[in-house]
Amino acid sequence: MRKLAIVVTAGALAAFFLAGLALPGAAHAEQRWVPCSKCGGNGEQYCDNCGGRGQLHCTYCGGGGQMKVYCPSCGGSGQYGGDTCGNCGGAGTVMAACDNCGGAGVVACSSCGGTGVVTCTLCGGAGGRDWNFPD
Ligand SMILES: [Zn+2]
Ligand SMILES: [Zn+2]
Ligand SMILES: [Zn+2]
Ligand SMILES: [Zn+2]
Repeated sequence: MRKLAIVVTAGALAAFFLAGLALPGAAHAEQRWVPCSKCGGNGEQYCDNCGGRGQLHCTYCGGGGQMKVYCPSCGGSGQYGGDTCGNCGGAGTVMAACDNCGGAGVVACSSCGGTGVVTCTLCGGAGGRDWNFPD
């Protein structure tokens, strides 16, 4: 959805740009503020790293928020005091909240700090530039 909107905006800007060039203008070169074709003038673009969501699937747990850890009662042996461990049922492992994401399954994107947007790489955040239009 968002990507489509960006494409449409860029297309409209390109059309505007070409129409501006074709217009019979003043006899002298004219400086006009042209909005950035990538960000449309707001100086920000969606973060490529997270696709604008601001979050990434936790690679540690695969997004499930849970990870297998050695049973803290039996240390992974599945036996406790010569009997089957009651905590893990003899499996030696138990599920616990992921260390990396705290059980959420997602982590904040490090590229954009979780905001989903970054400074536009084309205009450097200026939103556009003064452009010399020839006569
Ligand atoms: Zn156990
Ligand atoms: Zn995780
Ligand atoms: Zn991001
Ligand atoms: Zn830009």
